[in-house]
Amino acid sequence: MDAQLNLYDTKTRQKRVFIPLDVGNVRVYVCGPTVYDRAHIGNARPFIVFDVLIRLLRHVYGAGHVTYVRNITDIDDKINTRAKDRGIAIGELTRDTIADFHDDIDALHCLRPTQEPRATDYVAQMRRLIDRLVERGHAYVADDHVLFAVNSLPAYGELSRRSLDEMLAGARIDVAPYKRDGLDFVLWKPSRDGEPAWPSPAGIEAEGRPGWHIECSAMAAAHLGERFDIHGGGIDLAFPHHENERAQTLAATGADEMASFWMHNGFLQVEGRKMSKSEGNFITIRDALDVAPGDTLRLAMLMTHYRQPIDWTAKRVADATVLLRGWAASIGDLPDAPDPPNAAEADRNVLAALCDDLNTPLAIARLGELAKAGDRALYASAAVMGIDLMRVRAQEAERTAAGDPDAVATVDKLVAERLAAKAERRFADADAIRDQLAKMGVAVKDGKGSDGAPTSTWEFT
Ligand code: AMP
Ligand code: ZN
Repeated sequence: MDAQLNLYDTKTRQKRVFIPLDVGNVRVYVCGPTVYDRAHIGNARPFIVFDVLIRLLRHVYGAGHVTYVRNITDIDDKINTRAKDRGIAIGELTRDTIADFHDDIDALHCLRPTQEPRATDYVAQMRRLIDRLVERGHAYVADDHVLFAVNSLPAYGELSRRSLDEMLAGARIDVAPYKRDGLDFVLWKPSRDGEPAWPSPAGIEAEGRPGWHIECSAMAAAHLGERFDIHGGGIDLAFPHHENERAQTLAATGADEMASFWMHNGFLQVEGRKMSKSEGNFITIRDALDVAPGDTLRLAMLMTHYRQPIDWTAKRVADATVLLRGWAASIGDLPDAPDPPNAAEADRNVLAALCDDLNTPLAIARLGELAKAGDRALYASAAVMGIDLMRVRAQEAERTAAGDPDAVATVDKLVAERLAAKAERRFADADAIRDQLAKMGVAVKDGKGSDGAPTSTWEFT
């Protein structure tokens, strides 16, 4: 493969040529889900973005030469609280949530990682790492907690490029009394009654549990070593999570870097605000899959460059639907199409776009040109982004055979029903339909036809 891969690194704020530490084993760590609830479509963004990266790396370096580790955070206060609220065991909550996560992420056609470590299986490694940090003078015990001494590591702040003062301003609001410095963060804390508990490190007698950041340092080191190629996640993780992970690993090893590239995706937003569980403005992956299949949702996500924010709208999904149908139609039946497609047939320009810091919008524009030209390279090229046009064709055929209406036909029908309800003065029914349409991202506008009869037009917002 002659294309050169350039990636943007959050730490240096630059795009640079990607050179693996070991071409025989390119190593990537992506922070995985905290399993207390169903993932939303914003959570899906990093998993889709880094899935494209992994597919591209495998294309460039060979399928057997890329190790992809994505953890599962199954120790977290949110998990404890949720299990208590629902009156179920923590193990039951995490088991069910992991199963749901796998269903969702498989339906989005994300490859399973090479390793999917769960925090609960790595507590011994976390304890050893914490002991090492205490021995090296980077951590201290206070009030049955172990804290990382931020002042002990000059490299702290290099990743997120924040000054200590700036960081302190954020942390000052409620600094626990046992901290020597406001920025010091928890490596280990005591467990209260009923909370999961493990033997503590650093000679602490009471049982306790690890903090979130140390989980990832330990799991990454266990599978990739303390120095690897790429560390990824959403931009909200850059600070404090990745800053702290990096600090722990550097302090424990004396090395000057943990990952050669730190990559972060931008937020998926709703009306300009980050989609999040706490805001309550979320659509679960499952809900999104009810509206459109996995390939369509992937395309809708990849139409925007991964570092830009995305506004998630019904219009975006409708646009992706139309685009994908066009592509699927253009590949024809490809009677001799290999499954999986022959990677060697992938288009050079599509690959070049992806090799330029995953420029998926440019790759998609090129796929459109291939579709117009009826070029069979379209099939192999779309597959590098995890979009399988034969699968799309099969789904389309099934949908048509079942007489299943598409989104546009469904909206047309609802709009007509609302008009009829209004004509019959069933206003509550009409309002309910309007609400249902609003939830689908459809705005209805009422007017009058040339004959004076009421009409309704609509659009995806
Ligand atoms: P969590 O399960 O909350 O730890 O999040 C899993 C992943 O989703 C992390 O990489 C987050 O950075 C990412 N994430 C969460 N919300 C969003 C969002 N609205 N847009 C993009 N990424 C997000
Ligand atoms: Zn992490």
